[in-house]
Amino acid sequence: MIKVLEHGIRKITCPHCKAKLQYEQEDIREAIKPAILGEDEIYKFITCPDCENEIILTPIKK
Ligand SMILES: [Zn+2]
Repeated sequence: MIKVLEHGIRKITCPHCKAKLQYEQEDIREAIKPAILGEDEIYKFITCPDCENEIILTPIKK
């Protein structure tokens, strides 16, 4: 029988202050990066509770 140990919990290390964070889907926020050419890009990020920097989860295409 399969058991769910952690439900939708993801882990990441903050690239700014090296804090190890655990976040859930509801912590993820979206912002729009305006494009100079072409379409604006939507990126997903969380905010580090320690250093309050944005940690971008989706790589922005160039
Ligand atoms: Zn941080």
